[in-house]
Amino acid sequence: MGSYKGPSCKICRRNRVKLFLKGSRCFTAKCEIEKRNFPPGSAPGARASKMSEYGVRLREKQKLRYFYGISENTMRRSYQRASEKKGITGYNLLLIFESRLDNVLYRTNVCRSRKEARQIVRHGHVKVNGRKVDIPSFEIRVGDVVELSDKKRDFFIGNLQALKDAQIPATYQFDEKALTVKFLHAPKREDIDVPVQEQLIVEYYSR
Ligand code: SF4
Repeated sequence: MGSYKGPSCKICRRNRVKLFLKGSRCFTAKCEIEKRNFPPGSAPGARASKMSEYGVRLREKQKLRYFYGISENTMRRSYQRASEKKGITGYNLLLIFESRLDNVLYRTNVCRSRKEARQIVRHGHVKVNGRKVDIPSFEIRVGDVVELSDKKRDFFIGNLQALKDAQIPATYQFDEKALTVKFLHAPKREDIDVPVQEQLIVEYYSR
């Protein structure tokens, strides 16, 4: 997650939004946002100081970066690619991150967090269309089939059970028996549950 090495929950508290960085804990009452939804270092109920326009845009960009666990450089490069594609730049940017292999494993609940998903991919437990892929940022396309290693079946099934409250998006067809995921279609914006206003991120990079 870039160079930040501190507690993940602090990022959510600072942004006052759930960014789902700690797996199944995020869906329980133990979530720090559920317990104390105020920024670290301030008192409960304290008024938030007014942010500059630049600060608001910067915060949206950082939220997106933390949400998907990507570095500043990757973010900048991805934005560049998104702006060169046809269509709405902000939506294009979200689609790039949604197609990442680590995100697919997280979205289908076989990993508890994107961080865990990255580790699984790096350790060679994933194939795409029959070929081993160990790059978490690898982007899958509509029609691609992701295969999970049978050696890790207990791990994947354990996660599926722990994350049973988190719905698998209709974008994916998950076959629990074969441990495969098929990418059926690109998600619509309203189906991507990212708590950011991507237009502000576009404005941040267009300044
Ligand atoms: Fe921590 Fe997850 Fe709650 Fe964020 S959503 S505060 S990472 S438990």
